[in-house]
Amino acid sequence: MAKRIRTEVDRLRAKEYYEANKEKILARQKARRESPDYVKKPYDPEVRRKYRAENLEREKKSEREWRLRNPERTRALVAKKRAIRKGAEGFYTSDDLKHLFYKQRGRCAYCRESIGHGYHVDHFQPLSKQGSNWPWNIKLTCPPCNMRKKDKDPVEYGYTLLELFDSHFNHLEEIKHTGITTL
Ligand SMILES: [Zn+2]
Repeated sequence: MAKRIRTEVDRLRAKEYYEANKEKILARQKARRESPDYVKKPYDPEVRRKYRAENLEREKKSEREWRLRNPERTRALVAKKRAIRKGAEGFYTSDDLKHLFYKQRGRCAYCRESIGHGYHVDHFQPLSKQGSNWPWNIKLTCPPCNMRKKDKDPVEYGYTLLELFDSHFNHLEEIKHTGITTL
């Protein structure tokens, strides 16, 4: 018989059961650990790899579900991997992102638009330009600002922003003088 796939309902039920019987479960685990014929299985990456290969679809599904349940932790993990790949130093956690969101009052670090509906994580000094992955080099931005900034360092991006403001204000001036609103 095929193994039944764990659903979200199963997960919640298991959690509920665990909460309701926590003491019993912990006592049982402790007794098992302390019994004379208890052998702790060492973590074997080869066994883990084999299990994963044999249950690939299930593993992928549960990983996907975990990512959906933990968007901020996922973001932090992805960034950590990326930083390691780029040889950057440092890492930040999902709590750092929450703290930043609070510090920036839920607004984009560059244009001050609300980022309540979603944000990008920007490296103020880009990783490609020796920026670190430490929380103090991180800004939360609205998606358009992050796309515009890309790998620019903050000074370069400042110029782009100035150009943007310039063209924006020139455009407003034009409208004022000509009354033509289309570019
Ligand atoms: Zn922005």
